[in-house]
Amino acid sequence: MQKLTIVIPAYNEEKILESSVKTLLNIEDKIAAANYLEQRADILIVDDGSTDKTWQIIERLNAEISRVRGLKFSRNFGHQAALIAGLSEAVKTAAVTVTIDADLQDDPNKIPDMVSQYTGGADVVYGVRNNRDSDSWFKRTTAQTYYGLLKKLGVELVPNHADFRLMSKRAVETFLQYPERNIFIRGIIPKLGYTTGKVYYKRTPRMAGESKYPLKKMLAFAWDGITSLTVAPVRLILILGVLACLLAVGMSIFTLISKFTGLAVHGWSSLMISLWFMGGLQMVSLGIIGEYIGKMTTEVKHRPRYTVARKLD
Ligand code: UDP
Ligand code: MG
Repeated sequence: MQKLTIVIPAYNEEKILESSVKTLLNIEDKIAAANYLEQRADILIVDDGSTDKTWQIIERLNAEISRVRGLKFSRNFGHQAALIAGLSEAVKTAAVTVTIDADLQDDPNKIPDMVSQYTGGADVVYGVRNNRDSDSWFKRTTAQTYYGLLKKLGVELVPNHADFRLMSKRAVETFLQYPERNIFIRGIIPKLGYTTGKVYYKRTPRMAGESKYPLKKMLAFAWDGITSLTVAPVRLILILGVLACLLAVGMSIFTLISKFTGLAVHGWSSLMISLWFMGGLQMVSLGIIGEYIGKMTTEVKHRPRYTVARKLD
């Protein structure tokens, strides 16, 4: 049994969903014709609480084409939640899954390539865009700065890869063992450790409808990425505290010199010295408490301690 399921998160995508599904069905047929996989592939659409006709379209498609399945959220839970729900459902029957946005800005014609890398042994195949021409200057620069920052904070991400990705059954199952609530999927996948592959594609502009990621959502998503993947900012407080203490020593020397050379007014020196030392001490204390909170953060995530890739009996 080697079934492929394509998972599509959809939020208010009435303008584009049907044509996207048709395109994807065609691609699946091509894959089946090339005999990459044994059983017929299907499509699972996760309606993330749409308020337009998205769900009606899914119902109609499902009635017409049995290979189209649907899940509907009770309200909008977000792109990442929709992907997780789709993968959890798909993995029950599929040997391999591909996640792709409903607008098909990520080139679906690369899916056969992904599948052939999977049959060649890759558990995860990343879709990587090799241009950012379709993005505004603003989105391009902020994205690059952001990925640079994450890298400095020690987070491993595949540059220019979003959520267009193939995953084998066991990769999805391992991924689902990361039960954390605040989840930034593309930051977790590289942690799984399985064999990976890449396909490169040109990202095209959205054909219809508008982006469901306005600036506010994008900023929230970016912030989630940092705070859910690293406790490095907390360590920064500790480092700043230690630096402030060191500065306090320098300031004390300067203050004492000022005092004994008669430059300082009465009471200034004691104020200056305590100000710097207290500031530094408070920052160090916060940093230490932060370290423990950081540890708790990693503990409550209940991530798996290890993943076994192969076993010989
Ligand atoms: N999406 C979703 N829930 C949301 C926002 C977006 O399921 O709250 C879906 C959306 O339907 C699309 C994908 O996530 O399939 C990516 O959204 P979009 O194309 O608007 O993002 P952009 O390409 O502009 O970053
Ligand atoms: Mg899009």
